[in-house]
Amino acid sequence: MTRLYCGFKRTSDNHLAIVRFRGGSCGTRRGLDWVSRWRGLCPRHAGYLPKREQYNIILEYKPGATNRADALSRRPDYKGSNPINDDITVWPDRYFCDNHTSIRVFDMDSIGDNLDRQVKLAQYKEQPLLKKWAPTHNLTLLDGTHWYHGTALVVVADNALRRGVISLFHNHVTAGHAGITKTLQLITPYYWWPNLKTFVTEYVKGCATCQMTKVNTHPTHPLMFPITPADNARPFETIAMDFITKLPQSGGFDTILTITDTDCSKASIFIPCHKTINSEGVALLYLNHVIPHYGIPRKIISDRDIHFVSKFSTELCCILNIHQNISTAYHPQTDGASERTNQTLEQYLQVFCGTQQNNWHA
Ligand SMILES: [Zn+2]
Repeated sequence: MTRLYCGFKRTSDNHLAIVRFRGGSCGTRRGLDWVSRWRGLCPRHAGYLPKREQYNIILEYKPGATNRADALSRRPDYKGSNPINDDITVWPDRYFCDNHTSIRVFDMDSIGDNLDRQVKLAQYKEQPLLKKWAPTHNLTLLDGTHWYHGTALVVVADNALRRGVISLFHNHVTAGHAGITKTLQLITPYYWWPNLKTFVTEYVKGCATCQMTKVNTHPTHPLMFPITPADNARPFETIAMDFITKLPQSGGFDTILTITDTDCSKASIFIPCHKTINSEGVALLYLNHVIPHYGIPRKIISDRDIHFVSKFSTELCCILNIHQNISTAYHPQTDGASERTNQTLEQYLQVFCGTQQNNWHA
């Protein structure tokens, strides 16, 4: 016979507590009374009844003050920590390093011994200098001859030795070529010298391995050399010309001639044409679309496209007294203005021409 103590406020919860064999800890006798008189089970509650029939149980009301939760919901092994182990720290302090960003590079007792000896030997030779440093850098003398800055041994007057110290904390296989800050953090507890930070910065910046293997996450942009505009320039007096080719066919056109005014307005004219166009064709397009509005240009900037460097173009420019400024492989930014215009136009067409890409000429 199992004796269950129930006392939930909600009467249907009392039922559930009974059929699932859970005890209640708050409530009134009314809840249990209600259960004893309960009719009209909902399907959910009725589903538990066959299970109830498997047990031999009796229900008893117990007032709240005396109603302790039963053994089923308070298993003894869930009773919290074992008092015997209360004062035992699982992970004592010795497992944690002082600074969360530093890692233990190597065992100073073994590898560092040799370095310490060299540093101390250098100190021995430079006692007058160290005595001079002592008041300004707050150095302390331990063991009669060894100078320390806090806990760090002072490395004195020997750049080769200083490089040796840094290489041990930076190049060592367990250090893994750490960055400036971390290398500095690793050295500081053990060694010190004036301008240590500058020295470490220079060293890490000059480390060939770091330069070869690390990704520059903040690349510096190359300097801008804009084309200096001529004074009092008129619209389309100095122009940059280029082609956008291999476009999808649209109205019989597959190429765009872009003409950009570089000195005055930065305005652009876009003329659809064919990829088979020749130098005469380009001259004709310019004659029809630009000259009626802006006249003959004084300077044409372009790449080394055959249309611009052909004999015809060169002769024409010579006759009309137009200065040709053609970019070279060593100075590709010459026609940067037209390349930028092309980029903007391509972006524009991508956004606004239809999905079939056959109406961009309109
Ligand atoms: Zn490095």
